[in-house]
Amino acid sequence: MNLNTNFQNIADSYLFSTIAHKVAAFGESHPGAPIIRLGIGDVTLPLAPVVIEAMQQALCEMSVQKSFKGYGPEQGYLFLKEAIHNYYGERKICLNVDEIFISDGAKSDLGNILDLFSVDNTVLVPDPVYPVYVDTNTMAGRKILFMDANEDNGFLPLPDPSIKADVIYLCSPNNPTGAVYDRAGLKAWVDYANENHAVILFDAAYECFIEDENLPRSIFEIEGAQTCAIEFCSFSKMAGFTGTRCGWTIVPLALQSEGMSLNKMWLRRQTTKFNGVPYVVQKGAAAVFSAQGQRQIEESLAYYKENAQVLARTLDELGIWYTGGKNSPYLWLKCPNDMDSWDFFDYLLEKANLVGTPGAGFGKNGNKFFRLTAFGDKAATREAAGRLKKLLG
Ligand code: PLP
Repeated sequence: MNLNTNFQNIADSYLFSTIAHKVAAFGESHPGAPIIRLGIGDVTLPLAPVVIEAMQQALCEMSVQKSFKGYGPEQGYLFLKEAIHNYYGERKICLNVDEIFISDGAKSDLGNILDLFSVDNTVLVPDPVYPVYVDTNTMAGRKILFMDANEDNGFLPLPDPSIKADVIYLCSPNNPTGAVYDRAGLKAWVDYANENHAVILFDAAYECFIEDENLPRSIFEIEGAQTCAIEFCSFSKMAGFTGTRCGWTIVPLALQSEGMSLNKMWLRRQTTKFNGVPYVVQKGAAAVFSAQGQRQIEESLAYYKENAQVLARTLDELGIWYTGGKNSPYLWLKCPNDMDSWDFFDYLLEKANLVGTPGAGFGKNGNKFFRLTAFGDKAATREAAGRLKKLLG
């Protein structure tokens, strides 16, 4: 056999294991130290009661022969696709239900979508970046170009007409920077993609954190996106589904190239390699869009948003430059005194027993930056804010 040697080109992911190792070592040498973790990107609040009820009811249906479900449609049950269709409709985005594909989360589809593209394509990703975009393309042997996201452009790079890219990754609100594109920024990318016969893979996993009505929550709010973009979304952060697994992907019918429909290709890919998301999970996901479901998830989202506000206010008071914190669960701060992100990590752990994520783990432009998240416990986040003020004030 011959192996896919591209795997040798993937950088080992030391980020979270190194953090865990450092925190464990610190805990051993400082027993009882009141360590607070603001590094996690996972949710901490449980599923909404309405989701649990819907899943329990679906499970009961599975126990009776008359209502039992075997294999479902690979692209998802109509009841969930219609609920998502209406969710977009509320924002005046008119989708065809055949454009909506239910997934087991955004991560799987962000990787799997690459089945549709030739390995000759040039891929453009921002630096810093959610590592999945880089690693999945490296596995396939594609050429990757990096575009600088930095303090000068507010970590929201715009297209450079001199660069020719075929596949472009955009994530807004962004992980790790929390930065959010406005309409003009996304329009510039949509125009670039249409002019260059490129496709935008738009990761909207954090759209539910956008509160400012002037900011786009979907790329399909932008004119022209139907012919150049695919959108990935998730119930993970919106409704606490990180362990339950459900998301959706929108592949417009108008997205065509060389006489081939990307929507038809994706349908063929999914019906060949995927057997759908469990019925019970899809019933739980659909409940998120009920009036009661929307109220309940808003409560959890408000909890995280308040944590983000507490941290943002602290950074404001300290005069520390940052992106995110508003319309996003992430805060991306500039390390004080020109410190490197790993040095700042050690300093925070040692002096304030706080854990965050060094920006260096997301790309070279993250070297002097640091990510905090709002997904932690409310009291612990307030305590962490107090410690930051004391240490850096
Ligand atoms: N996209 C981004 C930018 C993320 O940060 C994450 C998870 O942290 C995902 C996608 C994965 O989402 P899911 O849980 O739906 O696979």
